[in-house]
Amino acid sequence: MQVTSYDLIMDVDFKKLTFSGTVCIQLQSDQDAILNCVGLDIQRVILNEKSIQFKQSKEELILQTGPFEGILEVNYAGKIPDSLAGIYRAPYDHTQIVTTHFEAAQARRMLPCIDHPAAKAEFKIAVKIDQELTAISNMPIESVLPDGERKLVTFQKTPRMSTYLLYLGVGKFEERTEKLGKTDVIVATIPGKVKLGKFSQEEAKKAIDFFESYYAIPYRLPKIHLIAVPEFAMGAMENWGAITFRESALLVDAATSTRTRKRVAEIVDHELAHQWFGNLVTMKWWDDIWLNESFATFMAFKVLNSLHSDWKIWEDFMRTETAGAMGRDCLMRTHPIQAPVKSPEEIEQIFDEISYGKGASILRMIEAYIGEGAFQKGIRQYLSNHAYSNASGNELWNTLEKCSNKPVQKIMSAWIQQPGYPMLTIKVSDGKLTLHQERFLLSGASEEGVWPIPITLEINGRPQSILMDSSEQILDTTVIKSLKVNVDRTGFYMIRCIGSEDLLWNSKLSAIDQWGTVSDAFAFLLSGKIAFPDYMKLLKRFATCVEYLPLHEISDQLSSLYTIARPRISDFSRTFHRSQLDMLREKTDENALVLREAVASRLTLVDDTYSHELATKFRDYDVVPPDMKQAVALAYARSTEEYDSLLAAYRKINSDEDKIRLLTAMTSFRTASLVSQTLDFTLTTEVKRQDTRLILVTATANPDARNTIWKWLQENIGKLQELYEGTGILSGTFLSIIPILGIGRVEDMKTFFTRHKISGAEVGISAGLEKLLVYDRLAKALAQ
Ligand SMILES: [Zn+2]
Repeated sequence: MQVTSYDLIMDVDFKKLTFSGTVCIQLQSDQDAILNCVGLDIQRVILNEKSIQFKQSKEELILQTGPFEGILEVNYAGKIPDSLAGIYRAPYDHTQIVTTHFEAAQARRMLPCIDHPAAKAEFKIAVKIDQELTAISNMPIESVLPDGERKLVTFQKTPRMSTYLLYLGVGKFEERTEKLGKTDVIVATIPGKVKLGKFSQEEAKKAIDFFESYYAIPYRLPKIHLIAVPEFAMGAMENWGAITFRESALLVDAATSTRTRKRVAEIVDHELAHQWFGNLVTMKWWDDIWLNESFATFMAFKVLNSLHSDWKIWEDFMRTETAGAMGRDCLMRTHPIQAPVKSPEEIEQIFDEISYGKGASILRMIEAYIGEGAFQKGIRQYLSNHAYSNASGNELWNTLEKCSNKPVQKIMSAWIQQPGYPMLTIKVSDGKLTLHQERFLLSGASEEGVWPIPITLEINGRPQSILMDSSEQILDTTVIKSLKVNVDRTGFYMIRCIGSEDLLWNSKLSAIDQWGTVSDAFAFLLSGKIAFPDYMKLLKRFATCVEYLPLHEISDQLSSLYTIARPRISDFSRTFHRSQLDMLREKTDENALVLREAVASRLTLVDDTYSHELATKFRDYDVVPPDMKQAVALAYARSTEEYDSLLAAYRKINSDEDKIRLLTAMTSFRTASLVSQTLDFTLTTEVKRQDTRLILVTATANPDARNTIWKWLQENIGKLQELYEGTGILSGTFLSIIPILGIGRVEDMKTFFTRHKISGAEVGISAGLEKLLVYDRLAKALAQ
């Protein structure tokens, strides 16, 4: 089947929350046409002025057209549910906006279509709505005509694009528009919030500027909307010309923390990167979704680095993207970057750390290997060769190989097709440096594995690089006084020094190099490769360190260990976080504020004196500096156990970030029943559906409430499934909570998930159970 265009007219009943539609599809087919369609009531299908027979199955509409070329008209109707996928209702203040989220395979919930990323077509969309409402779609409005008491809003025709990038929003929007050359950059929010979009609008303008010059291709549509949606499952979605965000990922106010402001900028930049990578040039099928996501992730950090140099943003890249990917990819239950997928449920589950963080880290590795210039040249060629069309990873590697004269194809093929990543063991003896690679597994099991690794070294301060494509390589050297391998961690692999650790410490280590040592050490502790005292010895080396990245990493690790083995770690955590807090008092840069937020919050959990002292500030919560609000709320909850006053504050406060801070505090009570009361509360309409999962994940980190949360989860699993149907969100949620919640009850947990099959979360559950074995083993070892 070949599709050329869609002409869609929708009538949206904003009160009854229903819609009807007529879509005329210009199509050519050699057999009976099959369209994708879910949950729509198909009333009539017309071909050449004649009604034709049709059949509906779960995801398909099968039409008795026979071979034909022409216009197929489908009349249908549908409902607008309180879901988070397809066309849905996003409620606020007793009203709503009607909005859409179609990635990966949900456009079929609004119109019968060929819902395949390669079936690009032009879309002409019109929508009948009430007079007082407005509508937003991918393109600017072409005309607004009266239609009885209502109106018909018609949008300009789109360029050729994929169905998953379509957008339609209906409601009372408030907008602010600024011009960037010929492009309108528009923020849209529910009434009263548009002024909070200024930060993102500025970021967007600068990012578009950056991309136009980096890609050497202008932004192609006349406008770009940044839309704050009151209920939104993801952080954001790159619909072409009409990007949607959850409110907390777009809007910034006086109470917004520095951490969140950085995150907002990153998300805005990520979605804008997609307007070229993903929207203009699209993957052929979802097995290459990583091409979209890795690129957008990598490019977002490139822009951030250029626009906010003081953030040293590549340090955050390591701590979140690279570390997140390594933490996921060291399980047996992982998948290659390029993963074969068929069903919508399978597709939803690969929007994960592998598709985003690992892919982006591999791109960073290949850019470092071929050089920034060759990399940029290749990207420009690839995008201009495939504009308005689809392409695969192979086409990109070929282009990068031509532009660099280096074996990109061979390296990339291995890295995207092999699951996992290597651990490089280094031995120094008798003027020889031996490098050995094998796959790193968190379970501690050994497994052979060879990747072509671009390796960078500094021996006695002198840089060199090799491409290692065998399991072992031996280099002849002079006497080694200092040795650094994987300089600035551009390579996606771990380093294990056997007997030569001091050579590393004799080198000049950057913040990222230091992070690498401590990040690897934690993985080695979990996998049983190093003993707890050796791990602690390493942490103590950082006593005088003042670098944001390794210190943040250590704080994160102590926070994880607090959930696994609280009694063993509390004293050290208290000493570490106290001294950090003292050191950070002197600092005023934005990264110091980010770190201070984490440090102060974590100190409240292990230092009762500090907690009591800080809790008194809750009285004047409104004037607490944004980066201290979380710690103050936590301290108040831990030291007073006052559920009702936190709830009252929650009800009074408007910003999403502040609401999350208070709910987070309400999961940290010492009294477990109060925590389950909080979880019950997250299932009421007073908490956004998008946030329930986050609060559950946060609650799991409270060792005092673990038994109660496990009970709560078993009782409420059905409700969670209902809440996130069609989104794939539960897969990631279970991967986060099972390893912690299951400590001390591995068999119970296995039995429960064997009995309760949760469609769309299979991957996260089995990976979570695998990781649980590792956590449980460490918990037992540290309990002795
Ligand atoms: Zn993305």
